[in-house]
Amino acid sequence: MAEAGEMVLEGRGLKKIYGNGTTEVTVLRGLDLTVHASEFVALLGPSGCGKSTLLNILGLMDEPTSGEVRYEGKLVSAMTEPERCALRNRALGFVFQFDSLMPEFTVLENVVMPARIGNQDLEAAARRGLELLRGLGLEGLQGRFPSQLSGGERQRVALCRSLVNGPKLLLADEPTGNLDRSNGELVFKDLKELARLSGAAVLMVTHNEEAAGYATRVVRMLDGMVINGGGDS
Ligand code: ADP
Repeated sequence: MAEAGEMVLEGRGLKKIYGNGTTEVTVLRGLDLTVHASEFVALLGPSGCGKSTLLNILGLMDEPTSGEVRYEGKLVSAMTEPERCALRNRALGFVFQFDSLMPEFTVLENVVMPARIGNQDLEAAARRGLELLRGLGLEGLQGRFPSQLSGGERQRVALCRSLVNGPKLLLADEPTGNLDRSNGELVFKDLKELARLSGAAVLMVTHNEEAAGYATRVVRMLDGMVINGGGDS
């Protein structure tokens, strides 16, 4: 677990341009953002302002056209591919708008999947997975298949899965986008509580203004720029 206040993630001068010439679209325009240990940062902005693009870059699923991303001070662009894979698998957790649980695996098997992919001790992962499920009162669902759960339950199982490897940072992209209001509130609440218990910082992007009430810091984005709350400058 990182020390409270320590910088976990730093993005500096991030630009992203898609296409070229007449098809060129500038989506990020030199954006700075930091996340410290123990923070729950909600990144709010209207649809199309570049939130998912930013999260894909910070989650090492895409590269910026220019600018730097550092995890715990280490420059991502200077890492080898195995180092980047290890970072993705162990230090980062992901939650997306759609739960993306694997239909042919049970709830517990889904929760331990990141540990299986990372070749880790599966018994220890199952214990941790059960603990996470229990934390949300979902332990009774461990043997069910995703098709036997409600949408809200599936997304809460996906939360447990994102934390099973004990990441330092959880990246969430519109995790309530597919849910009704009451299930959405439950997911925000559970996300906050599970991250606190696991010691993971959270960066959640959303257009849902209610997220602001759960965050320790709100960052606002508009048209490819952070307009306030970006952190250290
Ligand atoms: P948000 O998550 O805030 O809704 P996105 O990051 O998904 O915003 O998209 C920001 C802008 O970038 C949108 O105008 C979108 O059309 C554009 N965009 C996203 N991906 C691509 C791509 N691969 N090629 C061209 N434009 C893209």
